[in-house]
Amino acid sequence: MKALVYEGPRKVTVKEMPDAKIEKATDVLVKITTTNICGSDLHMYEGRTNMETGRILGHENLGVVAEVGPGVQRIKVGDRVCLPFNIGCGFCENCEKGLTGFCLTANPGMAGAAYGFAGMGPYSGGQAEYLRVPFGDFNCLVLPPDAEEKENDYVMLSDIFPTGYHATVLAGVEPGDTVAIYGAGPVGLMAAMSANLKGASKVMVVDTHKDRLALAEKMGAIPIDDSEGNSAEQILEMTKGKGADRGCECVGYQCSCKGHEVPNLTMNNLVKAVKPTGGIGVVGVFVAEDPGSPDDLMKEGKLAFDFGSMWMKGQRIATGQANVKAYNRKLRDLIAAGKASPSQIISHELPLEDAPGAYENFDARKDGWTKVILKPAA
Ligand code: NAD
Ligand code: ZN
Repeated sequence: MKALVYEGPRKVTVKEMPDAKIEKATDVLVKITTTNICGSDLHMYEGRTNMETGRILGHENLGVVAEVGPGVQRIKVGDRVCLPFNIGCGFCENCEKGLTGFCLTANPGMAGAAYGFAGMGPYSGGQAEYLRVPFGDFNCLVLPPDAEEKENDYVMLSDIFPTGYHATVLAGVEPGDTVAIYGAGPVGLMAAMSANLKGASKVMVVDTHKDRLALAEKMGAIPIDDSEGNSAEQILEMTKGKGADRGCECVGYQCSCKGHEVPNLTMNNLVKAVKPTGGIGVVGVFVAEDPGSPDDLMKEGKLAFDFGSMWMKGQRIATGQANVKAYNRKLRDLIAAGKASPSQIISHELPLEDAPGAYENFDARKDGWTKVILKPAA
C-alpha cells in the first residue's frame, strides 16, 4: 500500500509499504478515505522526538471498514468510522473512567497510545491506504448516514475538535465566561469553537499570524495579535483589568528557527491574562528540543514559567492528552445536527502523494496553510 513515511528530520516520502493487516482477533482494518496533518506531527517531522525512521505517520484518520477480526462483534465491514487518535483497550482502570488518552494496556509502561506517534506504542499511522485498528469494537466511532457528505467535518473528531473541547474542559469553561486562547492553529481554533458552543460570553484568540487570526474572527472570536503589543495586556484591557475567567494553551513547543517567540511566553502570558482563581487548560505538547533518552521523550519537555505569580493568583492548571472517546459521540451529534462545522478551518484538501510538500508548507506556517487533509483514495 502507499503510505507517508518518516525518513528523518524534515524528510517524509510517500512510498510502497507492506499492507496493513489484521494481526489480532479484535483488530479492524480500515480503508482510509481522509487523514489529516496535525501540529503534533510536526514535533516528529522536525526531528525532536525519538520517532524511528521508516514508520508511517498519521493519527487523525477516517475511513471505511474493509475487514474485521474474528473477535469483533459491533463493527461491520462497510461501516464509515472515525478513529480517535488515542488507542484505548476499553477495559483498564483509566479507560473505564473515560480517560482513554491514558490507557494502561495499549502502551504498557507508558500511559497513552496513538497511531504513528513517537513514544506512544508501536502502532502504524493512517497517512496510508489502510490502517490496522486495535481493539476495533472500542476504537471505531461509527458515523451517521450523512458521513460521506460531511466527511471533512467528522474527520476532525479524530483529534482536534475533541482536543480543543478538552482544553475548555481542563480550563473549566462555563456559560458566560470570558476565555483567552493562546494559539490560532487548528487546535486553538477548535478550542475557540468549543468555548462558543459552551456559551462563553467573550472568546479572545492570540497568535501572530494574521491569516489564522482572521479565521478566528470569522469563527466569532476576538483576534489578538501579539506582535502588535503584549497580548496579556490587551486581554486585561478587554476585561476591564480583571483578566479572562479561563485560559487555554494551544501552542506547545514551537521551533524557534521558524522565528516564533520563546514558547514559554505563552504560559507567562496566560498567568498574566487569566483572573485570580481562574483555570488554565494546557493541551499544547511540550517535547524536548533534543529528544534525550529514546525511552522517554516527553520527560525532557521542559517548561519554565512564572509559577510564583500563578500561586499568588490561586490559579488552577490542568494538562494532558485529550480523552477523545469521552467527547466524540456528543461532538459527532453536534456535527450531525448542523451545530458545529469544524471543516471550516481546512485550507487544503490534497491527494496523499502531495503530503511531503504539504508538511513543508504547514511546518513553515506558510500563509494560508491552516489545516491540510489528505485523501489517500483520490
Ligand atoms: P500549530 O503549531 O499549527 O498551532 C500553534 C499556533 O500557535 C500557531 O498558529 C503559532 O503561530 C501560534 N503561536 C506560536 N507562538 C505563540 C505565542 N507565543 N503566542 C501565541 N501564539 C503562538 O499546531 P496545532 O495543530 O494547532 O497544535 C497546537 C498544539 O496542540 C501542538 O503542540 C500540538 O502538539 C498540540 N496537540 C495536543 C493534543 C492533545 O491531545 N493534548 C492533540 C493535538 C494537538
Ligand atoms: Zn493531531
